[in-house]
Amino acid sequence: MPLEVVRISALTDNYVWLLHEPDSGETVVVDPAEAAPALAAAEQRGWRISQVWNTHWHPDHTGGNAAVKAATGATITGPAAEAARIPTLDLHVREGDTTRIGGLEANIIDTPGHTAGHIAFHLPSAAAVFVGDTLFAMGCGRLFEGTSADMHASMRKLAALPDDTLVYCGHEYTLANARFAAATRPDDPAIAARLSRVEAQRAAGEATVPTTIGIERATNLFLRADDADELGALRAAKDRFTG
Ligand SMILES: [Zn+2]
Repeated sequence: MPLEVVRISALTDNYVWLLHEPDSGETVVVDPAEAAPALAAAEQRGWRISQVWNTHWHPDHTGGNAAVKAATGATITGPAAEAARIPTLDLHVREGDTTRIGGLEANIIDTPGHTAGHIAFHLPSAAAVFVGDTLFAMGCGRLFEGTSADMHASMRKLAALPDDTLVYCGHEYTLANARFAAATRPDDPAIAARLSRVEAQRAAGEATVPTTIGIERATNLFLRADDADELGALRAAKDRFTG
């Protein structure tokens, strides 16, 4: 197993991801909304956190940075374009840069739209991508700082990853996204089937994340959008959708 990934629930519906590479023993926490649950999850397993990776500046993704660093001395890596808004950052990265957990390389992908400098961490050898609030299961992030053209370009980059790539996003939003997708495309059998599955998972108290690029390519209207206008119209409709 090249990479162990632990899902940690935080705040209301955030997911913090704890990554462990067994050969080196290195442990990374991605987007610590808060420090305590991440530190506890690492301690339980006898892991020592040596890095934090941030996808974007929002406090529900960086709020635990300082406390994780104080407790562990971790190095914090995040988007160069948002360095002014993440005062705890040690290393500033952008598309074309790489970082590592043990022997595994993570390629940085610029994915603006939700925030202006948002990045994703893609680990090809682990078939995993950490996407923050850009791509969600059956959805995409709100356009707080970017345009629909920005988000569409970000979606195209993520859609180009291999189908079996595991997608680790920052929130459990899948049920609301699935209901919106089914209401928008009532005749789509893949979306209907996934809505049923997600309803059953959530009724059983199960998480629906990670997903995969292949599943999203089949059932995510935002990832499937042909152009920025289609994505923008979907995003605006989702913002108004009350289920
Ligand atoms: Zn966010």
